[in-house]
Amino acid sequence: MNTVQGFYFDTVCAITAEADESVLNEALQLCPSYERLMSRFIEGSDVWRLNHAEGVPVEVSEDTLTVLHCADSVRRASGGAFNIAVGAASKLWKFTGENPVIPSDAELDTAADELREFFIAFEGPFVTISPGACIDLGGVAKGYICDKIADALRERGVESALLNFGGNITTIGLHPKGRPWQVGLQKPDAARNEAVFAAVESTDSAVVTSGVYERSFVQEGILYHHILDPRTCRPATSNLVSVSVVSESGMLADALATAILVLGAEQGFALTQKYGVQAVLLTYDGKLTYTQDMRLTLIQH
Ligand code: AMP
Ligand code: MG
Repeated sequence: MNTVQGFYFDTVCAITAEADESVLNEALQLCPSYERLMSRFIEGSDVWRLNHAEGVPVEVSEDTLTVLHCADSVRRASGGAFNIAVGAASKLWKFTGENPVIPSDAELDTAADELREFFIAFEGPFVTISPGACIDLGGVAKGYICDKIADALRERGVESALLNFGGNITTIGLHPKGRPWQVGLQKPDAARNEAVFAAVESTDSAVVTSGVYERSFVQEGILYHHILDPRTCRPATSNLVSVSVVSESGMLADALATAILVLGAEQGFALTQKYGVQAVLLTYDGKLTYTQDMRLTLIQH
């Protein structure tokens, strides 16, 4: 098996497969092209143009359109717990930078008021968002991109692969040893790829984890993390520390994992039922719950 990796979407993206390295590198090179469409930081990207359009319709690529439609569906279904317009608040917290800050209550309350007014409208390839809104596809785009890169690999004849894009796992076929891929679910306090508390079987599916520990800081004993409740623009306060969603669609799994982390178990499981996906939820005090059909192996340490 060969592995190639690169740093995209602010995370390490790795592809492991039974294929020539040249095939894998070609697939990995799709990352920067998707980044150029969907990053809010890259001038001229679809998202950048939307964020600077001041309410004028913007023509976007088919890829961006697909992600925006999915995000809109999950926003409605989650009662606004998932909302890409949270970008306005993410900007205030600066979680993507070196030095996150705690914005003032006034700033956050204003951002939350503006978020309540957010609208998005679709007409063919044209998308209109409220003037002044800032959308951020960080909660959903990586899932979509993994789906597309897996499709590209399949088209090149790859029959066995695992994509690991920092918490977003997508598998193709079976592990070369002929069994389903086993995807480890990481303990919240462990460094990436270290201790896992469970393993999920995956064959041609995505396992996407949202964790508060991915980007967070502690100040005066309080943990501040990057998954924001759009209703308050402050870090989500459900008692969940991580949520993993399994689905054929990495894009859907990605959006739902973020949404469930905001909503908590009860409303979260209502969402898994609505969309027909499996999920594993872990609380801060170590309580594990999961959907009935989840194929999970618990790992004791
Ligand atoms: P994920 O790791 O998929 O849960 O995505 C987290 C990222 O999505 C954050 O770093 C933000 O860029 C963005 N985000 C944070 N909170 C939300 C939310 N409630 N709805 C949509 N996107 C969010
Ligand atoms: Mg997500």
